[in-house]
Amino acid sequence: MFVALRKNGDYVSLVEKWKRSDLLELRKDETFLCPACQSKVQLKAGMKKTHHFAHLKGAECTIKTEPESEYHLDGKRQLFHWFQAQGYDVKLEPFLSEISQRPDLLVVTQDRRYAIEYQCSGIDSALFKKRSDSYRQIGIIPLWILGAKWFKRMSTYSVRLSSFQWLFATSFNQPIPPSILFYCPNTSTFIKLSNLQPFTSSEAFSSIHFYKEDVVSFSRLIAPNKTTFPLLPLWVRKKHKWRANYSVYSTSNLATLLTTLYENRIPPSLLPAEAGVPLTSGYWFHTPPMVWQMWILLDLLLPLKVGTTFFFSSVMGVISERISSKDLIIKQLPLLFHSRYSHAVEEYLLFLVSVGKLTKLSNTKYKKIGELQIPSTLEGSLKMDEAILKKSGNSC
Ligand SMILES: [Zn+2]
Repeated sequence: MFVALRKNGDYVSLVEKWKRSDLLELRKDETFLCPACQSKVQLKAGMKKTHHFAHLKGAECTIKTEPESEYHLDGKRQLFHWFQAQGYDVKLEPFLSEISQRPDLLVVTQDRRYAIEYQCSGIDSALFKKRSDSYRQIGIIPLWILGAKWFKRMSTYSVRLSSFQWLFATSFNQPIPPSILFYCPNTSTFIKLSNLQPFTSSEAFSSIHFYKEDVVSFSRLIAPNKTTFPLLPLWVRKKHKWRANYSVYSTSNLATLLTTLYENRIPPSLLPAEAGVPLTSGYWFHTPPMVWQMWILLDLLLPLKVGTTFFFSSVMGVISERISSKDLIIKQLPLLFHSRYSHAVEEYLLFLVSVGKLTKLSNTKYKKIGELQIPSTLEGSLKMDEAILKKSGNSC
């Protein structure tokens, strides 16, 4: 950390440039305390490393913060100066006694307060949620930025994202779909992922924007990104790959689906084209879209006779059961409140309406009006996948 308390109650901050000799002088006859837990901290004035304070070995702070690497300290300092340069009221490591939290930065704008957490090491999801909730309790918007070493690009429009990285998905302007922000102190660059479309549990299509710290403003950084990318051809190709190699994607929670498909005499490579389509809120499912959408078809829509009506609640019932039996997993997204996974389910039904398989009779009631077709060949399935996404006018 950069800020500590002196004996006289003043704060001392190491974020500005200090001469090492001055710090050594200061350290001689001064005691420094942690503003959060009031225990003694050490002033570390190294030759190479960023000057900082650290709790004594073995004496952990009562406030759980991440172990501070050089990378973290460097990023935090750069972010502090970045906000400062834009004229924001920004506080470094303020201790918020009412909730016993110490964010990296607190930024106050005209109408909002943001707690900036620059996270470079892993964090337990329960702790992540607890800290985020406590900020919100006192009217502060938590804004988590990931260290860019967590950024794993796979192709021009796709990234690797674990459940941990998904925790950071946040909607700066709710109800705009979420983004994930990274910061790299080595290149002074922000990376912003938006238009996130997960295809598997660890891979997602995404718009990827790079912003140099000295040219982008905070308001620009958190503004929605309107530009999208040509998702559909990428999606169709990826889906074709999945069909041909589904066993590669096979995980334990795919086993039940494969058995059920076998019982229904549907080869996994020949799932109906209606299973596995991109949806605006599709990110709610940790389970891949090929799988969760196929469960809705198997458990409810395939056995249903054309002309039969059903309620939205029946679909949600099917989902809930598959969640309890662990065939489906919902993502943990502690920073999103404007949306929930039922939105993804509803968007899926509306997709089926747009391709002529269902009609919507009322807010809660649907009718099956078309049979779902099982492709007969892999090549045929590719054409059907293309055709159905075109027909739906899918604009994801
Ligand atoms: Zn402490």
